[in-house]
Amino acid sequence: METLKRTKVKDLLQSTAYGTEVTVKGWVRTFRNNQFIAINDGSTINNIQAVVDFNTADEALLKRLTTGAAISVTGELIESLGKGQKVEVKVKTLEILGDSDAEKFPLQPKKHSLEFLREIAHLRFRTNTFNAVFKVRHALAYAIHKFFNDKGFVYLHTPVITASDAEGAGEMFRVTALDFNNPPRTETGEVDFKQDFFGKSTNLTVSGQLEAELAAMAFGEVYTFGPTFRAENSNTTRHLAEFWMIEPEVAFNDLNDNMNLAEELLKYVIKHALETCGDEIEFLKNRLLEEEKTKPMDERSELDLTAKLNFCLENDFERLTYTEAIEILKNSNPNKKKKFKYLIDKWGADLQSEHERYLVEKHFKKPVILTDYPKEIKAFYMRQNDDGTTVRAMDILFPGIGEIIGGSQREERLDLLEKRMGEMHIPVDELYWYLDTRRFGTAPHAGFGLGFERLVLFVTGMTNIRDVIPFPRAPKTAEF
Ligand code: ATP
Ligand code: MN
Repeated sequence: METLKRTKVKDLLQSTAYGTEVTVKGWVRTFRNNQFIAINDGSTINNIQAVVDFNTADEALLKRLTTGAAISVTGELIESLGKGQKVEVKVKTLEILGDSDAEKFPLQPKKHSLEFLREIAHLRFRTNTFNAVFKVRHALAYAIHKFFNDKGFVYLHTPVITASDAEGAGEMFRVTALDFNNPPRTETGEVDFKQDFFGKSTNLTVSGQLEAELAAMAFGEVYTFGPTFRAENSNTTRHLAEFWMIEPEVAFNDLNDNMNLAEELLKYVIKHALETCGDEIEFLKNRLLEEEKTKPMDERSELDLTAKLNFCLENDFERLTYTEAIEILKNSNPNKKKKFKYLIDKWGADLQSEHERYLVEKHFKKPVILTDYPKEIKAFYMRQNDDGTTVRAMDILFPGIGEIIGGSQREERLDLLEKRMGEMHIPVDELYWYLDTRRFGTAPHAGFGLGFERLVLFVTGMTNIRDVIPFPRAPKTAEF
């Protein structure tokens, strides 16, 4: 019965080969008037219309054309008279590949809430919104690899299981093969990890940076792109327990080079998404406009999604120091009128998301790079400034997102690094392998971590990070 190879809907919608016979395979989105089947095969968010002649078609077969059913249709490609489409398929043969019980299939041809769709994440791929989101996600992942590849970076796979608990980047998930109900104990009664699989206590990685630094000191330019885990119990719209991080690390770069690389990367991948995902971003733009209609005026964006992305490409990111930012915040209206939950009264305070968003969304109205943070609120490996109080850190803040990148120039001077580790109670002997880079041919170097889902969040205009990763992992959430 089937003789033709299937043509993808995306290609058919662009075809003008009227009169040729084609085969389409996909899932029924809607079936109207016992005549018009809207078929989607995932290749595009748009559907192709197939028209059946109900006078000659088998009535029992038509009854099985329900939303979600998988079908194969062969027929003539003809010019469409209907509005909104150029072509359609005049059905000659129709085969049901897989039925979908209309009573039970949870997706109906109407709008579902994102919360509801999250509960059926195994089926949400079949909606336009998630088709668009995950196409954009793919395009961004591809663009990241292309960007670094074209520059000559080496893609480094860092371990998912690590033994170093020294980084302090966040709470970790323990990895163990010990019997939970009856673990071996030391003489003093603690769990004896010497008898565990790796002979020591191990965790899921919170960052590949330390390993990436080792490779950067040989290859010059490397980047990681892999899963990262944080057992932080933060139920926010911007945190996941499992997320993907991109971490470039470059020998001989200083903080200025690091900022330039980060800004160039972000602009490159956003541009690639705009160029390759036109339909998807247009759809997501309209989705966001609809969503914002439900919000009060002052909470709506000034720019629509496409305008916001283009704005980001066309403008230099604002660069200023932490100290300068504190001055702006101290004198800001929300601070004076005590509108901030955490008031800024002194230098040294860690910036909360409300402060970051004020700087980006209200004050500068564009992406901001903050540098030279107080050493007390940053990690041990950041290069110490001559003032003795700040380090060469940088955070990139994005509208609607807050922190999208965190990075720094690294401390390459062994004595200063060891001293700082001592002050912060980081075990110097356990990290001998990390410190060896400073012992043997140390050199200035810098790098950063870009949270992939925060990037996807920005480019898709979605508002919850759980909607930009196929199967989100978050507190009390590990379904599918
Ligand atoms: P935040 O203050 O937002 O929790 P962080 O300071 O813990 O971020 P880093 O440790 O610097 O973040 O990690 C680098 C990047 O990884 C961040 O800039 C962010 O884009 C991303 N990121 C960090 N934690 C998470 C998370 N739990 N879920 C998703 N992305 C994250
Ligand atoms: Mn965090």
